[in-house]
Formats: sequence, C-alpha cells, structure tokens
Amino acid sequence: MFPEQKCILRIILPAPLRRYFDYLPPKESSIEELQPGIRVRVPFGKHKERIGLLLSVSDHSNIAENRLKRVTKIIDKTPVLPKRHLSLLEWASSYYHHPIGEVFFNALPKAIRQGKTLDIHHEQSWQITPAGIKADNNVLVNAPVQSHLLELFRERRQSLTRTQIQQFIRNWQTPLRGLVHKGFIEECRYTPVTEETDIHPEQVILNTDQERACKTLQSAFNTYQPFLLDGVTGSGKTEVYMCAIQMSLDAGKQALILLPEIGLTPQLITRFKRRFSARIAVLHSALSDSDRLRSWLQARDGEARIVLGTRSAIWTPLPDPGIYIVDEEHDASYKQQDGFRYSARDIALIRAKRDNTPVILGTATPSMETMQNAIAGRYQHLLLPQRAGEATPPRIRILDVRGEKMHGPLSELLLELIEEQVKQHKQVLLFLNRRGYASTMLCHQCGWIAICTRCERPLTYHKAINKLCCHHCGSQKSISLACPVCGNASLLQIGHGTERIEEVLQRQLPEARVLRIDRDSTRRRGSMQSMLDSIHTGEADILVGTQMLAKGHHFPRVTLAGIVDADRGLFGADFRASEHLAQLLIQVSGRAGRSRDAGKVIIQTHYPDHVLLTTLIGKGYREFSRLLLSERKLACLPPFSHLALLRAESFGKSNLQSFLEDARSGIISINQQQLEILGPVAAPQEKRVGRFRMQLLIQATNRNVLRRTLEPWVQSLEKLASGRKVRWSLDVDPQDML
Ligand code: ADP
Ligand code: ZN
Ligand code: ZN
Repeated sequence: MFPEQKCILRIILPAPLRRYFDYLPPKESSIEELQPGIRVRVPFGKHKERIGLLLSVSDHSNIAENRLKRVTKIIDKTPVLPKRHLSLLEWASSYYHHPIGEVFFNALPKAIRQGKTLDIHHEQSWQITPAGIKADNNVLVNAPVQSHLLELFRERRQSLTRTQIQQFIRNWQTPLRGLVHKGFIEECRYTPVTEETDIHPEQVILNTDQERACKTLQSAFNTYQPFLLDGVTGSGKTEVYMCAIQMSLDAGKQALILLPEIGLTPQLITRFKRRFSARIAVLHSALSDSDRLRSWLQARDGEARIVLGTRSAIWTPLPDPGIYIVDEEHDASYKQQDGFRYSARDIALIRAKRDNTPVILGTATPSMETMQNAIAGRYQHLLLPQRAGEATPPRIRILDVRGEKMHGPLSELLLELIEEQVKQHKQVLLFLNRRGYASTMLCHQCGWIAICTRCERPLTYHKAINKLCCHHCGSQKSISLACPVCGNASLLQIGHGTERIEEVLQRQLPEARVLRIDRDSTRRRGSMQSMLDSIHTGEADILVGTQMLAKGHHFPRVTLAGIVDADRGLFGADFRASEHLAQLLIQVSGRAGRSRDAGKVIIQTHYPDHVLLTTLIGKGYREFSRLLLSERKLACLPPFSHLALLRAESFGKSNLQSFLEDARSGIISINQQQLEILGPVAAPQEKRVGRFRMQLLIQATNRNVLRRTLEPWVQSLEKLASGRKVRWSLDVDPQDML
C-alpha cells in the first residue's frame, strides 16, 4: 500500500481532447499492479464507463483531490503496450498535435479497445489430411464445390477457419462435411504457423545492381540509416527487400513491411512463404477482428518475425525490430486522410531512428520529399536502373487523340492495338481513374447538371445499378428520364468511367473477355482475389481498372497498357497534381511487359506537347523530378517548406469565417515573422455532405519553428468560443488540399 495522495493515475481515454485524465487507483490496489501500458476501466461522465490506458503514475494533479474519481477496475496484469511504444505514440500525438486518446486508440486492435481479455480463443478450423493430399479429383467429379474446397486446402496447406473459407467459397458448409466424411479434411486446432515443409526456396541469382544494394544494406545493419531503393518497375526490388529481411532474421530480429494496398498482400505473402520459414503476421483492414488481434499479439510477443501490412500496421509493437520497409513509398494511401492524419511512411522513419535500425523506402517513382532527402544525402540512394531477368523496359507512346475517331473514351487506334494483342493471346490493361459509366448527366436544352445537393459536385452515373452516385458522400439517387428544370428528355451522358470502357469493348471486341476491377466490382469479400487469380491464369484478356490495378501488381501476361485519359491530371488544382500524375503514368506503364514479351504503353491525350508529358516520356522520371523540384523550390513549396492545414467545416459560412479569422489572429500573435499564413479561403471542395468547408494554410521553412508554433496555437484553438460552432482539424504535412 502507498500513501494515497501520492498516487495519481494519468489515464489516456478515447476522446477528442488534447489532454490526459487523472484518476485515483482502485482502493485495494498495490503500486506493482499499476504498470504503465495496462488497461483500466474508469467512470466517465454520468453513469458511464470507459476503457482507458494507464500512461504513468504521478504524485500530483491539477484537479483537487476530492474531485478525482477512482478507477473501477484494472483489466490487465501485464502492459498491453511496451514502454517504448507508449513513448512513440506520445511523440506522434505531439508531432501531429492530435488528441492523445485518439492516437492511442487508433493504434490498438478493436478487441483491445473494447477491453476484452487477450487470451486468444481457438477458432474452429480444418486442415487437409494425407488422404486428402493424395486424393484423385476425379472421385469428386460430381461434387464441384467439394472439389473446389479440396483444391483450396491443397493450395493453402495450412488450417483454415470459417471466415477464411468464407472468403473464397460460398455455401461451403455441407460440401465440407462431405469431405470430412470422406476423410480428406479433418477438424483441427487453428495454427496460423507456416510449416517448415512449406518452403521451396526459389533459385534467384541476384544481378549486379541487386547485389550492390544488398551489400550496402548489410553494412548499415544495427544503425539508423534510411535508404531510397530507387528501382524501375520490375527491377526486382522485392528481392532486395527479402535480402534485408533475411539479414534481420539472421540477426534474431523482426522485419516490418508496409504495402500500399490490401490487394498486394497475397502476392507478397506467397513469395515470402516460399522463402522464409519464419512466422509471418499479416495486418490489414479486411481481416476479421479476431484474426487481426491474433496477428497483432504475435507481432507484439515476437512470435511473428515478419510483419506485413497496410498503413495501420505501422503501429504494431515489435520487441526486436531489425528493419522497416515501405514499399511504393510515394503512395498516397500511407497518409491517413481523416481523423488522426498521420503518414505511415514518416512514422516508419521515426521508428527506425528510435530503434536504431535501417529503413528502406522502395519505389520506381520517389515522392519529391524522398527525392530531395536523397539528393541532400540524408538518405542513401540505391539504384536498380534495369528490369530484372529477361524483361525489357516498356516503349511508351503518347497518342494524340485530337480529331481522332473515338468509340466512347477509346480511340480507334487504341482499339486496333488492343485487338492485335488479344488475337495473340496477350493481356491488355486499360487504366482510367474513374468508376461508373458517365461523369454526369447534362440537359442538352437548358444546361442543367445532375449534382449532389449535399456536396455541390456532379453525380456519377452508374449503369450497372442504374443510379446516380456521389463519389464524395456516397449518396445515391435514381435517375430521372427528363430534366427536372425544363422537362426536356434529351439528357446527355458526359465523361467516361470504367463501366463505359467495359461496354465499348464488349461491343467492339465481342470475343474478348473483359474484367473490370474497381471498387464497385470488388466490393464482395474475396472477389479481388478471384479476379487476380483469373488474370494470372489467363482467363481474362482485357483488364479495365482504376488505381487498384495500377499499384505494384505483377501481371506477367500484360504486354499493352493503355492510359485512357491523361488530360484530367494535367490541370489539377493541387500543387502535387503533376507529381501524382507522373507517378501514376509510370506505375501503370510498369505493369506492361514484365516478363519475356516486350511491353507497350499508350497514353491518350489532347495535349501531346504538354511539358509534363514530354519531359516524363522523353527524359524519364528522374529528369522530370529535377524539373519539378526546381519549380517547388522557386515557389517555396514542400519539400522546401513545411505545411500545416487547419480545416474547418460547418453548415453556416459565417461561423467558418469567424473561427478561421480568430485562428489567424491567434497564430500571428504567437509567431508572425517566420511563418506564411494563407487564408482563410474556401476549400477546393467547398461543400461536402451538406457542410461548407474553409481552410487556413500555414507554411514555414523550418520544421521546428512550425512545431513550436503549432503547439500553443492548437491549445488556444481549443479554447476559442468560435471553435465550438464548427468542426475543425489540423493536418500536419498535408498531402492534399481538399
Ligand atoms: P519490382 O518490385 O521492382 O517491380 P519485382 O521484385 O516484383 O519487381 O520483380 C519483378 C520480376 O523479376 C519478378 O518476377 C521476379 O521474380 C523477377 N526477378 C527479380 N530479380 C531477379 C533476378 N535477379 N533474376 C531473375 N529474375 C528476377
Ligand atoms: Zn433542362
Ligand atoms: Zn455528395
């Protein structure tokens, strides 16, 4: 026991407030129980309880003793998070000036946030028996689902839970019972372990560039050193990652790898499983809560030696970190765009620094921030200038479509090229970053446009469901046959989406098998995987897709990539628009000709002489980035300055104006000399889900100056009366200005 007045518990609660909460310990507790990182249950508000996390024990509080409440229950005997991780999260909260409770609870799996006990219960699962491995599929010829199931177990070679089976096959219960009855499948304890027997090391002989990159990495082990692994698409960056992972495993340490997109994980897991015997934990948003908790605990307890995941996986605690790897580091998905707006790439760098480990940022198209860090020598620049194996770089051609005959969004010439490839049984990938059929509906008589009244943005026409959809707020409207203003029935469909391309192809090339891959067509669980499978087996001839298809995939059969519309990105409002367009063009191009057959890329545009296109295509990404960096330098934009964006939204415009004016005076009174303050101005997207949006941009040449100013400023914003009438948030290092 301890003198009570000397024991104040500093608790973190999931609340949008930039502060800690002080509580007294439960009556019957001892100081040994009160370890930082344990969860507690506390009274909060009237008759309510919340789960909190103990950050530290203090001997004083600013709140009078008699007003402090008592923790009702201590949940954990041992900390949920190690000390080192607590301090990382505290750092993140202070760097992003974001409420600490949201930072902490954002980083924890749901079951932990909910206060559940952490004993992993064993889900019912099944595995293949030796008889099942040997079984001849002909005996199942009359039971296609059974046959399909058996195939699934054969491929996986490990136990599968109901949720996992569900992802691949529907109505599997009865067929599974059939297989159990036949002795091909048996029930077992869930073992997410990769068996040693799974490994069939591929024989890859590293080329000279890969060899050199690996040697350099090796020399930096056990020290903080960021690397930019700058390798053209298909240059074999993954081999270098695997080499670094192996070094880490050999040294008895763990490796954490971030990917931009869930769809890429299966492909990488397969490669890793073939290479490593170590246990792999996978973390991404499509996992069930229990699977996610299991992976998280395995990583935290050091059972999993390789941790692979999307953005939020960066918050996984690791007892023995040896290397951090961020694949496609330029990808926008690493920045969370709502709530706690962190950059997983930047957190990876911070973690590496705190853990004294190397960190690899891999990409074919470095972000300007990373490029500049490499140029300045802060990152070591590793180059893989050539495609690995037998693949050659794709030939890129700008297709001037001015005055050309068009079939919807596709020019006659592009259609001919597509047909030629399909005839030769090669695959074609067509990229258009817009879902749906038409960008909007327009009245030919009076000019009325179908817009979302809540966002004041055009509604996209989706033919598959015959509805108008808002891509900003998700609302849907049924379409009217006549103009609601003038009653005229001549409504035109303007602009093209992926559904439209699919339709044109079906009409023009009826023989070709077209697969559309976008958020609409992959909504159902497991559908992305089955589409990827049919691409790999060659069951599809033409792949039509959005962003989802552009990133990192390895489609060896694709020999022609078409960028259907490069024009929109040429005139983007955001200063990063041209950077993003260039990255996208190179990434999409990189999907073509990754194997023996040479690849071709066609970029359709009405602006063939645009300097962005001519520099990028004529001189390459590196020259392009030099040009862009010199422009940014002149304009004093990132990476030559640092930004913070104060966003506010409200149903009334005047509330916004007065809050942002107050905020502006506030920051000026703290630091006027070293900052540039722009605004208040309307956000590029001025209205969203019924709310008006405005913003104030803060620019500083020195990051520390910015940090030091934001700290007291945010505190003052919390106290502003005008701030209570609006929703506001601060975005440190914003990636877009929307
Ligand atoms: P990146 O990630 O750089 O786009 P990948 O790592 O996916 O490229 O490699 C592209 C292809 O080249 C893969 O099929 C890979 O197996 C192959 N590859 C990589 N390194 C070599 C090598 N040294 N020799 C032969 N093939 C290689
Ligand atoms: Zn009209
Ligand atoms: Zn809307």
